[in-house]
Amino acid sequence: MIAITDHGPALPGGPHLYYFGNQRVLPDEIGGVRVLKGVEANIMNEKGELDLDQYYLERMDIVLAGFHAQCFPTSDRDICTKAMLNTMENPYVDIIVHPGNPEFPVDYEAVIKRAAEKGMPLEINNSSFCGSRRGSGDNCCEIAGMIAAGGGPVVIGSDAHFARDVGRFEHAIETALAAGIKEEQVLNTSVEKILNYLGRKKHLLRE
Ligand SMILES: [Zn+2]
Repeated sequence: MIAITDHGPALPGGPHLYYFGNQRVLPDEIGGVRVLKGVEANIMNEKGELDLDQYYLERMDIVLAGFHAQCFPTSDRDICTKAMLNTMENPYVDIIVHPGNPEFPVDYEAVIKRAAEKGMPLEINNSSFCGSRRGSGDNCCEIAGMIAAGGGPVVIGSDAHFARDVGRFEHAIETALAAGIKEEQVLNTSVEKILNYLGRKKHLLRE
């Protein structure tokens, strides 16, 4: 299984909304690989509003959300924390990405506690250890340790921005193992677990 999650349209270089609407024409399976069509939406403000509205979000197989430069207006820790907590309340959001980004600091304890309560996976992002979002590595280790202790779910992400990096998880897996995160806490260890999680959310939304 692969998840295709281009950045939302507010990020410079992110696709136009038409791209996300057009994803419906992509097959669900290519060469025996299940394809999840989604987005990495940008958290835009303290309210946790995203750069795609409900029309698009409800059509996505998977919705990631996170902070990105040039989309979120401040590095104030209180505001970033409120924004991330509010984003988790959006019923269309499935995963919070790269929470260890030092450019947008958050109260880890508050975020991890709420994520565990909601069953919202926080991402351990492989490229955070390879030069993306410089300074993330130590933060990610700290977050992983707190999640191991707190028992919330995580997802291991490649954050591939280039074909060669698809499926590369080595640093993220090493971090999860070193922290003592248990396999049952990791969402993407099987296709069934992922589909159950996403299917459960979509089912809840229809009620
Ligand atoms: Zn990102």
